[in-house]
Amino acid sequence: MDDGSTASVSSPPGGDPPPWRPHVRPPRPGQETLEQTLAGVRSKIYPRSVSGIFARWRIAFVFLTQLIFYGLPWLQWNGRQAVLFDLGARKFYLFGLVLWPQDVVYLAVLLVISALALFLFTAVAGRLFCGYACPQTVYTEIFMWIERKVEGDRVARIRLDESPWTWRKARLKVTKHFLWIALAWWTGSTFIGYFAPIRELGHELFTLQLGPWQWFWMVFYGFATWGNAGFMRESVCKYMCPYARFQSVMVDPDTFVVTYDKRRGDPRGGRSRKVDHKAAGLGDCVDCSLCVQVCPTGIDIREGLQYMCIGCGACIDACEQVMDKMQYPSGLIRYTSERAMLDGLSTQSARSHLLRPRVLIYGSLILVLAVAFVTSLAMRNPLRVDVIRDRGALGREVAGGMIENVYRLQIINTSDSPLRLRLSADGMPGLAVRAGQSESDVVDVEPAANKLVPMVIRAPAGAEPGAHPITLRARAHDQENRPIETDEAASFYVPE
Ligand code: SF4
Ligand code: SF4
Repeated sequence: MDDGSTASVSSPPGGDPPPWRPHVRPPRPGQETLEQTLAGVRSKIYPRSVSGIFARWRIAFVFLTQLIFYGLPWLQWNGRQAVLFDLGARKFYLFGLVLWPQDVVYLAVLLVISALALFLFTAVAGRLFCGYACPQTVYTEIFMWIERKVEGDRVARIRLDESPWTWRKARLKVTKHFLWIALAWWTGSTFIGYFAPIRELGHELFTLQLGPWQWFWMVFYGFATWGNAGFMRESVCKYMCPYARFQSVMVDPDTFVVTYDKRRGDPRGGRSRKVDHKAAGLGDCVDCSLCVQVCPTGIDIREGLQYMCIGCGACIDACEQVMDKMQYPSGLIRYTSERAMLDGLSTQSARSHLLRPRVLIYGSLILVLAVAFVTSLAMRNPLRVDVIRDRGALGREVAGGMIENVYRLQIINTSDSPLRLRLSADGMPGLAVRAGQSESDVVDVEPAANKLVPMVIRAPAGAEPGAHPITLRARAHDQENRPIETDEAASFYVPE
C-alpha cells in the first residue's frame, strides 16, 4: 500500500490488530507551547495513501478543477482574455458577456444560485463539496502527492520526521518545499491572472515590472496556498471552515453520509480468516484501523458521524479492501443515510428517500433563478445612455432662429462588438440632435466601452419659455443586425 498513490491492505487482518489511532507526532521539546497555542488539539496527521473508487473520483476532481483554474485565464475569446475581472476598468469579462458595475445584480444572483446548490448538495450527500471540489481539499491532495513522491508514504514520513537532521533529511525537506513553493507561486500567479491580462503578466513578472498590488496578491495567495495545503491541511476543515459548523442544520436523517454500519461491524476484533467470527461473537470489523489511518482529518468514523468528516470516502476505499481480503460482504463503511442505517434499509430504499421537501424546494429555487438569470441575460439591452445637462450653459439662441441646449452623453456599450448609434429626440416639434464635434447624429462606440460625448439639441425658436420634457432615443444594430434601442428622459430649456 505504501508507496505512492496505490494502496494495499498490508496489515494482516488475521494477525494482531495494530493500534487504530492515527500516528501522532509527539511535540519536540520547546514546541509544546507553539503547537498548543496554534492549534489546541492539533497534532500532525500522516494519512496513509489509499486506492479505490472514491480515490479515483478525488483524483478526477483534482484534474478537472485544476485544469479549469490554471487553464481558464489563458483562454482567448474574440481576441481578448475569455475570463477577466478587470477591477481597474470596472469590467468583468465572461466569454461573450461583459458585466459592468451596474450589472452587480447578476453576480449577486450567481452567488445565490451557488449557495443554494451547496445547500442542495449538502441535503443530498453531506459534505460532498468538501471531499471533492473544495480548494483546500484539492490543494492538500496535490501537496500530499508531492510529499509522498519525495519523502515516501506514511511510515517513511513518520520515520523521517522523527529522525535527527542529516544531509538526506535536509535534501528531502528542501526538495519538498522547493516543489511546494513552485506550485504555490504558480497558483498565486494564476490567481492574479484573473484580474490582469495573464499574457502581459508573464512578461511583467520575468522583467520584474509587476505593480505593488500584483506583487502583494501573488505572494499573499501563493503563501496562503503553501501554508494551508502544506501545513494547516485538515485544521482548516476542522477549526476554521464555517461550512463545517452550519452543515448540521442542512442535513437530516435522509442525507447520504459516510457511515460505519455498527450493527454489522461490532463487536470489533482481530481474527483469523479461517475463524467463523460470528460463532466467536465478533462483528465484521477486524479493528485493523486502516479506515483511521487513511482519514485526512484523522477521525474514526466508527465513532459515528462527526462534523470533521469531509465525506471524502477514503475510509470506504480502505475498508472495502479489508472486506475483500476477508471475503466479507462489502459496505461495512458506506455512503448511506442515518435512517437507512437505523431501520436496516437497503441502499436502494435509502435512495428513494432522497427526493424530499427540502431537496425539491432547493432544486426548484435553483431552477427558477437559473431560468430568470439566463432569460434576463439574453434580453439584456447592451446599450446604456445617460444624458447629463451642461449646467454652465442653459438654452441659448443661435443663428438660423434656433434654440440650442448643450449636454454630455455617457454611452455604455456592454456588448462585445462595436455599435454605430443614431441619435434622435422627440417631445417638441423640429428637434435636431448633433453629437461629438461633427454635425452628425451618428456616434460610434467601441466594444465594451464607456464613451462620453458632447451633444447639442436644437429646436426652432418660438416655443414657450421654460423647461420642456423631451426623450432622447439611441438606435443601433448588433452584429446579427438585430435592432437595439434605448430611450432616455431629458429636458430642453427655452430661454425667455
Ligand atoms: S471519516 Fe472517512 S469520509 Fe470522513 S474524512 Fe475521514 S476518511 Fe474521509
Ligand atoms: S471499519 Fe473496516 S477499515 Fe475500519 S477498522 Fe474495521 S475493518 Fe478495518
